[in-house]
Parts: sequence; C-alpha cells; structure tokens
Amino acid sequence: MDNRYDRQEKLKDMGFDQSKISKSHVIIIGIGALGSKSAELLARAGIKKITLVDRDFTELSNINKQSMYIEKDVGLPKAIVAKKEIKLINSKIKIDAVVDDFNYKNAEKIVKNADLVIDGSDNLETRFLINDVCVKNKIPWIYGAIIRTDGASFNIVPNGFCLRCVFRKTPEIKDLEICENVGLLNSLPSIIASKQVTEAFKILSGCSYSKKYFRINIWNDVFELLNIKKDPKCEVCSQKKFNFLNGEIGSKMTKMCGQNSFQIDTKIEVRNLKKISEKLKKMGNISYNKYLIHFRIGNKQISLYKNGRSIISGVKNEGEAKSLLAKYIGN
Ligand SMILES: [Zn+2]
Repeated sequence: MDNRYDRQEKLKDMGFDQSKISKSHVIIIGIGALGSKSAELLARAGIKKITLVDRDFTELSNINKQSMYIEKDVGLPKAIVAKKEIKLINSKIKIDAVVDDFNYKNAEKIVKNADLVIDGSDNLETRFLINDVCVKNKIPWIYGAIIRTDGASFNIVPNGFCLRCVFRKTPEIKDLEICENVGLLNSLPSIIASKQVTEAFKILSGCSYSKKYFRINIWNDVFELLNIKKDPKCEVCSQKKFNFLNGEIGSKMTKMCGQNSFQIDTKIEVRNLKKISEKLKKMGNISYNKYLIHFRIGNKQISLYKNGRSIISGVKNEGEAKSLLAKYIGN
C-alpha cells in the first residue's frame, strides 16, 4: 500500500521522526492566518491529534489571508470550519475544536496533555497567558507574530528562556490592545507558520531546535536570527509567578483586532438562541445558527454565543460596547 508519509520519512537522517510525530498532540491557539497554515501542515504530516482553539467566527475580511476559509464559511465559528476542512485532508488523525475564548479560567484545562502548543493568536495578552500556562506545565510552545510585512517566531521550551525574558516588562492592560489596524500582506503568514511547524517537528522528534529569534520583513528582504538570553530575574521562568494564569493580570473585556470590536464575557449561558432572536427581530436585523446570534442595528453588531460570550462591533469604546449589550441583551 502507498505510504502517504514516505517523502517525510526519508528525512530521518536529519532527525525527523515520523513515529514520534504520529504520537504527538499539538494545540493551536488561534486559527487565523498563522493557525490555519500550521493546522494544515500538521494534519498533512500525520500528527496524532490537533486541538483547534478559536473564539471567532469567519468574516469576509479574513479570507484574503486565512487559507482555511472560503466564502460560504462567513458567519460560522472558525474552529468548527477548520475541523471539517482538516478532516478532509487527513481522516486518520484526531481533531478537537474548542469554540471559546482562551483565558485564565480554561487555559490549564485546554493545554492539559499537550506535547506542544503553537501560537496562532493575534495579541500579547493571550501570548503572556500561553507563556504562563506552558512554563508552569513544562510544555514547549512556539511564538508566532505577523503584522504588515513583519513576522517573527521563536521557541520557548522548558528550562530555557521564556516570552517574558524577551519582552521583560509586563504591559499595562490598557496597552494590551490586539493588533492595530495597520494591515497585513497575505504572503507573510505562511512563511512564519512554516517556520513554527518546522520547529515543532524538530522539538517533537527530539532533535536540536532553534534557540534564536527569527525575524523577517518579507517586503524589504530582511531575514535575521537574533540571540536571546534567559533573564535570571524573570518573574515567570525564574520566579515562577504566573500572574496572567492566576487572573491577577488580564481583562474580562478584550479589544479585538480592527473594526472597533470588543469581546465581553457575560458568564451567562444562553440556553435558547431562537427565543432571544425572536425578541430581537423587532429591533434590528437578525440571523442565527446553532452556535450564535448575529444582531445588527445600523452599523453596530452584537454576536452572542451560547456560553454567554459576546462580541460587539462598530462601537467607539468599551463603555458603548457595554451599553449596547445591556440595552439589547440585558447583561
Ligand atoms: Zn523568562
């Protein structure tokens, strides 16, 4: 029978170990531009299990750069769409989809039993949380970041340096906004995701991996490898203080990437989306599926998920987001 992994098994002389890859569980936090590509590569390589974590639903503006999604997916949760697509690529592997915000309350539960975590997130607060939970639980993770035409990636492994050794000061919450709306070239994510997955293969195979900070500007032809040192005073990897994981730092309201959007965790489980949508129908445009409600009033929109999480778009600030939610949903 044809061996689907034959070409990569021929890389055994370099250290690539298919038997270890086929026994590994990787968690991807954020299935956007980076996470889409990483998930695809890992699935094609025959990883044992992938857990896909993403709180967002697909928007039309995602499709130019997020290779997992097509036009008919608009409005559906990314993790669910990605799970279906990956199953078509490799029906032999296990895939879990988590449609939820990755936060201090669920982080340890989600990463439990992972061999490695890949960062597909788009904000520093989530990365500091990934850093806390992975350092505490001795799980290797791979940072990835992209903006405009700049990209970066590096490995954080147990007993080595961590993210806080690199970004030493803990930012104030007000500074932790998700990416500014400054744009992204769609040819950039696949390079950074490919670097992340290559490093994942090395770490999971048990061979030597990069200890440098990989940085590129794809537009200006800049490719750099920078040295990183462990900070002996680092609060996380040296002092074992996990302030993001224990909830001392972090927000219940999160500003989202672009489009003046905020996420609010209402903590109220929504049992009957149909009933709520009937009520809202009289006040604006409504559409719903079994996962969430989209409610539009003029150029403002509320998306309400079953677990009580809501995303409010088209508002100027946090106060307006809270007011809009209170007015129409009653939280
Ligand atoms: Zn550190």
